[in-house]
Amino acid sequence: MDKNVFDAIRIVLVNTSHTGNIGSVARAMKTMGLKHLTLVDPVQAPDSHASALAAGATDILAAATTVNTLQEAIADCGLVLATSARNRTLDWPLLGPRKAAGKVLAEAPQYPVAIVFGRENSGLTNEELQLSQFHLHIPTNPDYGSLNLAMAVQTVCYELRMQQLEAENEQTLYPAAEDTANYPRGKELELFYGHLEQTLYDTGFIVKKHPGQVMTKLRRLFNRARPEESELNILRGILASINKPGR
Ligand code: SAH
Repeated sequence: MDKNVFDAIRIVLVNTSHTGNIGSVARAMKTMGLKHLTLVDPVQAPDSHASALAAGATDILAAATTVNTLQEAIADCGLVLATSARNRTLDWPLLGPRKAAGKVLAEAPQYPVAIVFGRENSGLTNEELQLSQFHLHIPTNPDYGSLNLAMAVQTVCYELRMQQLEAENEQTLYPAAEDTANYPRGKELELFYGHLEQTLYDTGFIVKKHPGQVMTKLRRLFNRARPEESELNILRGILASINKPGR
């Protein structure tokens, strides 16, 4: 396997409250060989408390990127996994850590891959969860399933490392992605969903005052189908043909 495959994997923390947790995440990542940390709108920027808990992983903190929105954090990603302490938050394709790690390693040679973690007290919002192709749940005790943020990151990164080592020891190439499709990036998907929503308003299919769950269901449908770039272009073309004035 390409040893640099971890270079394309990004751990994304959304709206973290405690800087200590950011430090602990940096440490969890570095111990497993991951490097790229993105902070989405942290309540507080990493401080001395973060550095203390990062121990020797302050380089990960120093190199971390901070952005305002999750959309920005995943704009260039071809695969996004959103983690959840609940195993059925939304009816979305759900993976455990092992299958998730396999997917990440198979696809990371092609484009950046993001694994997204939520707020300490409330996790990810439904809107944020809907920006992913897959949800990732660590199968914890159903009666007490919420891991500490850094421990959830540790568990996922451990699984990535185990599978990477296994592939190396077997001296085989990591199985290539099931398909080598050219998937659109996060930014292109958002442009499509924006275009689709606007068109459905224009045609009157969605009533602005009562939008209901249509867009959520359509996101689920398209994210499940994972249209390739060329297919997304066809969909955009269809929308443009509907938008044509005087049609
Ligand atoms: N009360 C929140 C829990 C947040 S725990 C809720 O019910 O959603 C903080 C973050 O740690 C979560 O957003 C998720 O990213 C991660 N996490 C915690 N437990 C997890 C689990 N069992 N599986 C996957 N991610 C988990």
